[in-house]
Amino acid sequence: MDTHVARSEANEEEAALLDAIDKWLGRDVRPHVLKLEHADEYPHEMVEQMKELGLFGATIDPEYGGLGLSATTYAKIVERIAEVWMSLSGIFNSHLIMAACVSRMGTAAQKAHWLPKFATGEIRGGLALTEPDCGTDLQAIRTRARRDGDHYVINGTKTWISNGIQGSCFALLVKTDPEATPRHKGMSMMIAPKGAGFTVSKKLEKLGYKGIDSAELVFDDYRIPADHLIGGEEGRGLQTALGGLELGRINVAARGVGLASAALKDSVKYSQIRKTMGKPICQHQAIQLKLGEMATRVQAARLLTYDAARAYDAGERCDMEAGMAKFYASEAAVENSLEAMRIHGGYGYSKEYHVERYYRDAPLMCIGEGTNEIQRMIIAKQLIERFPA
Ligand SMILES: Cc1cc2nc3c(=O)[nH]c(=O)nc-3n(C[C@H](O)[C@H](O)[C@H](O)COP(=O)(O)OP(=O)(O)OC[C@H]3O[C@@H](n4cnc5c(N)ncnc54)[C@H](O)[C@@H]3O)c2cc1C
Repeated sequence: MDTHVARSEANEEEAALLDAIDKWLGRDVRPHVLKLEHADEYPHEMVEQMKELGLFGATIDPEYGGLGLSATTYAKIVERIAEVWMSLSGIFNSHLIMAACVSRMGTAAQKAHWLPKFATGEIRGGLALTEPDCGTDLQAIRTRARRDGDHYVINGTKTWISNGIQGSCFALLVKTDPEATPRHKGMSMMIAPKGAGFTVSKKLEKLGYKGIDSAELVFDDYRIPADHLIGGEEGRGLQTALGGLELGRINVAARGVGLASAALKDSVKYSQIRKTMGKPICQHQAIQLKLGEMATRVQAARLLTYDAARAYDAGERCDMEAGMAKFYASEAAVENSLEAMRIHGGYGYSKEYHVERYYRDAPLMCIGEGTNEIQRMIIAKQLIERFPA
């Protein structure tokens, strides 16, 4: 097909999808956010609507029933959703990372079995990497999978797992050989559906990121068939996890853009309505300086995010680009949410407005999918590798 025709069809499809997302957000999400957020209530109805929109299969190949979206279109969707209620994007992000682990590293049989069920949202879940004693240093995990005939028996604890309560299946990082050197050679990734020996021990209470469940998961002689080992070969768990996290970082960057943009939009609006000294506060230079900086941050964060998504779509190595986007966009969200609070004065601190939520939600973007300290180290290492002296 002529590439121009293909591109314009793709653009039309993207525009139609983004339009459907905007309408859904305006009609079914925005009016309910304050109530659900403050009750910390799981948005069951919205999850059903997300299934209908195809979001649980957003980046899954159409061959397996997904929408097969590019990372670029996916980032635009996440940005829009995060602008309205960031928590919602967490419900499908780690689910799609689980799916990415299977589609990038799984066997043909695993793809055929799991991906169609992930795509419809019939099976929903997430990614279980972090443990009580380690998050950044994943090679220090202690969850152990021991081979027993044609099964694995798993023991250990995972914590901070998004969708831990409402989800029913997780990509689970384990040690299959705790003595291996280097340590990653003893790591494997399993597909772990809930069942006997797999329990949720705790719902974790949080500063923000309300509505979505974060939980501690305990595995106590949990048995799964050996064919649940992703890729069918031990020792590739860390590689599987890190591959999935590239898309995850683009998602977190897009969430940062959405939050930073929401803080900006609310501030632009409020500053034209609120008057002090006889004029709207947007006419005071002190407020204009804030708005100018906030808008610049949003645009820079957005461009970095789209650049990372473009590199991902082109199949290029993009850990540096995704790292830059995630780092910058999450810091932009933190800075813009604080500035929005200052611009709103006392109302910024009120639960009747959205601004206090942005301020509580934004710091999570600096922690999840690799902390911002680690992102800066990834960027530096890539710089050194790409530009040797
Ligand atoms: C709401 C929420 C949801 C989450 N969802 C999930 C999920 O779905 N699945 C999952 O597996 N995990 C999840 N996590 C866990 C998250 O990924 C970890 O919290 C994160 O990776 C950091 O790990 P840690 O908390 O153990 O911090 P640590 O690794 O203990 O780090 C503590 C501090 O030390 C810094 N640090 C660590 N190592 C270095 C180093 N080598 N050099 C410089 N600085 C360093 C870190 O940047 C950080 O500032 C979630 C966390 C939260 C809060």
